[in-house]
Amino acid sequence: MTITSIAPCVGTCSCHSKTPSIESLLPTDGSKLLRHLASQLHHSVCAVDQNLGHLEEELLRGGQEVFRQMLEKAAQQKSEAAPPLCPHCQNKLSRVTSGHWTTIQTRFGAVRVQRARGYCKRCRKWRFPADDLLGLPEEGTQSPGLQEMAALTVSKMPATEAEQVIERLAGVKISAATLGRQARQQGERAQEKRTHLDQQMSQPEGRAQQERDLQLQLPLEPFTLVIELDAWNIRERDHWGQSETLRKKGEDPSRWHWVYGGTCFRLSQRAQTAGGRSVILSRGYAMTRGGVDALREQLWAEAMRHGLGRANEVLIVVDGAVWIWNLAGDRFPGARQQVDLWHVNQHLWAVAHTLHPDDEAAARAWVEPLLAKLQEDASCEVITELEQLRERLEGPRREQVDKEVNYLQTHRERMDYGTARKRGEPLGSGAMESTCRQYQVRFKRTGQYWSQEGDEALMCLETFRRNGRWDLLFPHAKEIDPSKN
Ligand SMILES: [Zn+2]
Repeated sequence: MTITSIAPCVGTCSCHSKTPSIESLLPTDGSKLLRHLASQLHHSVCAVDQNLGHLEEELLRGGQEVFRQMLEKAAQQKSEAAPPLCPHCQNKLSRVTSGHWTTIQTRFGAVRVQRARGYCKRCRKWRFPADDLLGLPEEGTQSPGLQEMAALTVSKMPATEAEQVIERLAGVKISAATLGRQARQQGERAQEKRTHLDQQMSQPEGRAQQERDLQLQLPLEPFTLVIELDAWNIRERDHWGQSETLRKKGEDPSRWHWVYGGTCFRLSQRAQTAGGRSVILSRGYAMTRGGVDALREQLWAEAMRHGLGRANEVLIVVDGAVWIWNLAGDRFPGARQQVDLWHVNQHLWAVAHTLHPDDEAAARAWVEPLLAKLQEDASCEVITELEQLRERLEGPRREQVDKEVNYLQTHRERMDYGTARKRGEPLGSGAMESTCRQYQVRFKRTGQYWSQEGDEALMCLETFRRNGRWDLLFPHAKEIDPSKN
């Protein structure tokens, strides 16, 4: 292969290097292609039963070849500009030869590109430096645009649906199987990146570097960091095809597994929309199938990015599950803990229904003053009242009330709702609960099974997007705005 003659850049771009001319990027027979496109448009213009949608469609389908050719030429020029260095270790490659063809699937159709190949003595591997420059993984044939399409759609909907949506909206035909595989690969790449970022956060030098890289902006004035946690379950096929055998052996082929999640935000980021709905302007997310330990590390790193190291107060709001309090005490020592108000309300309602099983009005009349007291920061009074009530009961009713009194006593220190209200802090973990529901829309569909690796990969993609780090995976896609979650 001969290297294209290098002409200086004559465009208005800011490149100071010598690159091939702008004209060299125009499609072969460009005017013929455009003329053909115009004639297609002309048909639509003349057809009385066709509207603007038909014109858009003509351009989307008909314009593909123009863009495909331009992309192929540009990709070829980029390939030729790749320095003969190993993309992994930057070592100079030896035995470099050129003219190695590859076919890349792109959003405008397949393009063919020739590139150089060289041997890296350090890695002991053959390398194609151009592939790295073009954003292709080793042996990968899907362009970054298609990688992103697969990642974005399959983390939102089943691959069979994604196939139809992509074909309809982008005019690109990719099979559901390819989309699923591609999304999974991207998810695994996201997981690797997350691990790297989280480890970097645990080192002081790494932390300073990451604050610069991610442009994390923390306020100078004192602030409260709020952390909320929750869990939900997911269906996985870990004993696929073995259910009957397991059941015969008397074992339970359990398929529901826990997903653990957390969110964090500065209190000052809580605002109200014009319609009075409460929103959080900037927040961090962690969601994992990897167990409580994985969540602890992911959430800690995310909380650090949102100011954990500098907050003058940390508030943890959750429902009453034991794993959460262990995690909170372990990774966020010194944080003020608060149990979700609505969760406590449910416990009081349970007592009300024990006392008045057949009389809803009486149950309500009994519970309402207590619910009000709870909000007015008189949780001690509520507990004392229940303790006194318990003494007057016998049998199963007493056992029932006993259980609820124990619950309230356990969380006595975590029910300071009056103070929380005065400070404008959340009384419950509703923000996290609604986040969990949003994940469930994708990961908990009827009749849907997941493998543990598969769901962790896709969940990681969703979390990357929510955390505003989509561009770390797809640098061409800078415009995604995480505050629109
Ligand atoms: Zn190397």
